[in-house]
Amino acid sequence: ATMPPLLSAIANAGRHGVLVKSAVVMERLGEVTRAALDKTGTLTEGTPRLAEVRLVPGSGFDESAVLAAAAAAEHPSEHPLARAVVSAARERGLTPAEAEDFRSVPGRGVSAVVRGRVVEVGRPDALLDAGDGPDAGSGAHALARELVAEAEAGGRTAVVVLADGAPVAVLCLTDRLRPGAAAAVSALGGLTGNAPVLLTGDNPRAAGRLAAEAGIGEVRAGLLPEEKVAAVRTWSRAGERVLVVGDGVNDAPALAAAHCGVAMGRAGSDLALETADAVVVRDELATVPTVVALSRRARRLVV
Ligand code: ADP
Ligand code: MG
Repeated sequence: ATMPPLLSAIANAGRHGVLVKSAVVMERLGEVTRAALDKTGTLTEGTPRLAEVRLVPGSGFDESAVLAAAAAAEHPSEHPLARAVVSAARERGLTPAEAEDFRSVPGRGVSAVVRGRVVEVGRPDALLDAGDGPDAGSGAHALARELVAEAEAGGRTAVVVLADGAPVAVLCLTDRLRPGAAAAVSALGGLTGNAPVLLTGDNPRAAGRLAAEAGIGEVRAGLLPEEKVAAVRTWSRAGERVLVVGDGVNDAPALAAAHCGVAMGRAGSDLALETADAVVVRDELATVPTVVALSRRARRLVV
């Protein structure tokens, strides 16, 4: 028997390195009118590097103490920024201490108790601008905000480290655009008829710099996971069928809300892979427009 077109398309997608989870998904991929891409781990390689540790003066922490504490708190996290902090500590010969009470809030950061102190690592606005803590207006907070502004002005991702509520350092990280990202963006724009959009939890400067390299004109930065969902819903209500491409736990709600959610498989979080309708197993962004095109072709053969 000849295979039905959508099933051969699934087989074909598999040969290109994309696991499409059902015939319905295979069909939907060809219906998308706009692509929305996550930044860290999707447009970027997802292996950020720690470029610099900027200490908040007067905290009593030196660079090694900061990295040992941050790595201890980040150790259980699967986030690319967490892995960057842990590898940086390891490269400096530091062994992360045991951490207790690990907590992770998607799109914000982590916290844990390390050697009796509460260590938090995460998004500067969430940790410095909370505004209700007793030290929120203190000198250390203001100094940390300045260090963050400098790092972000340079197009870097900034993450703050707090010990018992006091900012002790700002970690500056950089990540590289994936090879082939610009070509994939351009192909997705052509296929969907609309310019792809970048959705990210990172700061506007780092996001804008990367978007420019990838050929993306529209950037929504500083988004929390639920705000990525809201963006998808707004487009959907306007009649668009959105393709979301992401990798993190923070992307899972948007992947679920999308007409089609595609997860990057190699470094993607388990939750993203489970939630997504399709998974890029071969770690190349170019396979995404390829499967959209395969769907279009198969749909023309379905009567
Ligand atoms: P993206 O949308 O670019 O994939 P996320 O939503 O995962 O980014 O994260 C948004 C921001 O939250 C990061 O830029 C960082 O400031 C902070 N963050 C999230 N998880 C972590 C973590 N494990 N360690 C440090 N910072 C984190
Ligand atoms: Mg991501």
